[in-house]
Amino acid sequence: MVEHLYLHIPFCAKVCPYCSFYVHGGGVGKQERFVEALVREIQAAKVTWNLKTIFIGGGTPSMLSAPLFSRIAEALPALGGVGEFTLEVNPATVTDKKVEAWKKGGVTRISLGVQSFRDPELKLLGRQHSSNQACQTYHELRDYGFKNLNIDLIFGLPDQNADHWRETLEIATSLLPNHLSAYQLTYEEDTPFFEKVSTGAIVPNEFQRQEMFEITEEILNRVDLQRYEISNFALLGNESKHNQAYWSGKNYLGFGPSAVSTIDSSRWTNFPDTEAYIQSMMSLGVPQREREEITAEIFWKERVMLGLRTREGVAKTLFNSLPEHLITLEKLVEEGHLQERGDSWVLTAQGQLVADSIAQSFF
Ligand code: SF4
Repeated sequence: MVEHLYLHIPFCAKVCPYCSFYVHGGGVGKQERFVEALVREIQAAKVTWNLKTIFIGGGTPSMLSAPLFSRIAEALPALGGVGEFTLEVNPATVTDKKVEAWKKGGVTRISLGVQSFRDPELKLLGRQHSSNQACQTYHELRDYGFKNLNIDLIFGLPDQNADHWRETLEIATSLLPNHLSAYQLTYEEDTPFFEKVSTGAIVPNEFQRQEMFEITEEILNRVDLQRYEISNFALLGNESKHNQAYWSGKNYLGFGPSAVSTIDSSRWTNFPDTEAYIQSMMSLGVPQREREEITAEIFWKERVMLGLRTREGVAKTLFNSLPEHLITLEKLVEEGHLQERGDSWVLTAQGQLVADSIAQSFF
């Protein structure tokens, strides 16, 4: 029984210099062939569906024309009545026809990739929209009846100070979204930003990180957006069910190039090559994949790493049979990084600042 489905759309009008996802350009002809291949992969899945969430991400899924989006939506398995169907949308790509197709196709939640409400920062990030355009798109989506809207933001940009970040957050919260994701900029290998850091052309902004982290919580809490994962805030009941499924170790299927699937102890990743994906789907009816076994150790590490990032924390039972971690747990509590809450271990505000290194201390 599969409850969660992800589709990867690899096209972007222009690849942003900090992006490490599998993405590339591609005209209408390529998109049409890709959509046919994707539909084949959806239809070829020999599983029993009990779909609770669908997430179409990328890349820029909103680049697809209305007919191409509808072709995918019509091929999807039925989503349960209270299901969540998220579409990632780039503000520079929205048209009336597309919005109509998204609504008709069953999209219930839109994640708007705004990243910043300051134009110089959008330029630095290589984005194609302006702050005004992002606000306008947000209002259009609301007016069209999309009630469940997420705004994606990035902080810790080069030369960004706490006041700049505050300005972006103030504009974001004035729009009253019911979900907001605030990610710290990271410099991933094989990206132009990473190379610029290596040559000294960009200096990573660690200076006001703690202040920005605290400002985020302060400003978002004013409009009742509560942190439920280190980078994610929502009104109560508006948390992303799809992402919560990943974080809690549920099974899911992923279709499209580079998409990952996990069913029990098996994980497989479609090769990140769109042309090879199309060829393989059309000739063999199955994509090329790389397989991996999720051993008990990998499963445990993932539960600790992802669980610590969430409001619910990590169940104490995860440590019950592993007494060797008791000393680490005690030390983290003494340092003020970890606390007990009911049957779980959760990070303190101080611990959230160094979540990844805390998880590493158990490995
Ligand atoms: S729009 Fe998003 S997915 Fe596309 S290149 Fe930029 S950051 Fe990456």
